[in-house]
Amino acid sequence: MIYQDQLDFAAMRQYASALKERAKLAGAPGEVSAIMLRDRILESGGRCEWCGCNLVGAEIELDHVVSLARGGSNTPANLVVACPDCNRRKAQKHPARFAVEIFSETGIRTDLVARILAHYRVEASRQLPLFSTNSDREKREAADNADAANPLPYRWED
Ligand SMILES: [Zn+2]
Repeated sequence: MIYQDQLDFAAMRQYASALKERAKLAGAPGEVSAIMLRDRILESGGRCEWCGCNLVGAEIELDHVVSLARGGSNTPANLVVACPDCNRRKAQKHPARFAVEIFSETGIRTDLVARILAHYRVEASRQLPLFSTNSDREKREAADNADAANPLPYRWED
């Protein structure tokens, strides 16, 4: 789906029904209408809610903050607008883990990243060093080890 001034309602209906199918397959609760999707998309202001990149005129996707496979539900509160790259990369990662990862790369604290860091209280203890000389792979391993040592609950929606 492309972000534009006149959102394509047929495309949103199709997207909503694809999300419904995926939720059904995952046994996840919730259902979103095309109107709910439109509202979430407009709330994003045409930016990826994870990395902040400009999505006007570009392909947008909707990402479940807590993935359906991890107990997330298919509701507007659990959906954010993402660029295809962020959506791929996040996949089933814990939202706090991905928030730290994307923030350490971009240095941009989007509203979503700020909300997630605050919600899971990961800021101080889990922030990856921004100017570390370690390789990305080492940083990821360190984050994985931290996750394994102290797993965070997934609960996000209130
Ligand atoms: Zn993004």
